[in-house]
Amino acid sequence: MPIEQTHLETQLVHAGVRKQAFHGAAVTPIVRSTVFETQKVVDYHDVVYPRLSNLPNQNEAARAIASIEGGEAGLVTASGMAAITTVLLSVLQGGGHLLAQRPLYGASQHFAQTTLPQLGARASFIDVRNPDSWSGAVKADTRAIYVEAISNPVLQVADHRRIASFAKQHGLVAIIDNTFATPVNFRPLEVGFDIVVHSATKYLNGHSDVCAGAVVGSQERVRAVKQWLDILGGSADPEACFLLRRGLKTLALRVGRQNDNALSLARLLEAHPVVEQVLYPGLESHPDHPVAREQFSGFGGMIACTLRGGAEAAQQLTRQLKLVTHSASLGGAETLVTIPAQTSHAGLTAAERQAAGIGDGLVRISVGIEHIDDLHADFEQALG
Ligand SMILES: *Cc1c(COP(=O)(O)O)cnc(C)c1O
Repeated sequence: MPIEQTHLETQLVHAGVRKQAFHGAAVTPIVRSTVFETQKVVDYHDVVYPRLSNLPNQNEAARAIASIEGGEAGLVTASGMAAITTVLLSVLQGGGHLLAQRPLYGASQHFAQTTLPQLGARASFIDVRNPDSWSGAVKADTRAIYVEAISNPVLQVADHRRIASFAKQHGLVAIIDNTFATPVNFRPLEVGFDIVVHSATKYLNGHSDVCAGAVVGSQERVRAVKQWLDILGGSADPEACFLLRRGLKTLALRVGRQNDNALSLARLLEAHPVVEQVLYPGLESHPDHPVAREQFSGFGGMIACTLRGGAEAAQQLTRQLKLVTHSASLGGAETLVTIPAQTSHAGLTAAERQAAGIGDGLVRISVGIEHIDDLHADFEQALG
């Protein structure tokens, strides 16, 4: 049976593995060599070399991620930002206009808002909850639209089918950051997106010990991105690829548990007297719940909430939690909390944060795979 026709769980274990290449080894060893004997080289991109992303571990991780996203081709990169910036530069080459969701992941927003203009390109920001406003933002040189499957940190969920058809209608490349949803919960290529990017540092690896990114799309689109990556140099290290491929095997198990734990914790928080508001797409109270329920098979492991005591109470919570770690990252096995105004979005001005709904007291939780009773107990004691 071709691997593409198997279930996601099966692909996570087997996709991209070429046992015959390594004496039947079930696990591909880390191939560290940066030097390979020259075989048939047609052009520069055929040379086997780490920066050209064609080593065995790079290829295997890329094939596996392409498979689980349902894309023809994939590429792994040195970080999520290497994936995002390389993709956006490749579509905006020569200076063009980008439509982007706001707010985005902090560094992505900085790139769109500040870096692109420094390079002769530019971006306009759209409110994904207001589709009637989108076409007014399209300019003659708009080349692409960029959104996040579940936006960081306020957990907005756009009608992604509508974004993709809007892109088609206006001849734009539709690009989505699927880091927060993961292909376990949502597969953007199936609703019409052209390119999927990931911070594989987060859920795809899932063990808080790798920095990597990924790009998935058609052969043609990924080839075009790779030409830029080969020159810009943001390729992934073979050891990172090995760990990433290993982490992928348990993605469905981890994300399944994180979906369950997050929904349960979100309900607990929502019912707690010191909690003012909980933002979780799986809650009926979330403004995007209907569209999230329609397009996702799970709501993910990320929660945001505000406490009645504001910024001070948020700080207090991060200090009082015992099991849960205060940290800015996300997507690992362990539950983490952070205050985005002080970490991931500290680079924005106070006014920009205000406009984006990122209050000083907003707490973001990356829910892990611990036993839910222990998470409940830790939050109960810390909020009490
Ligand atoms: C972390 C993150 C990124 C950036 O990824 P790095 O691996 O840190 O470069 C991009 N998008 C989202 C949604 C993220 O959470």
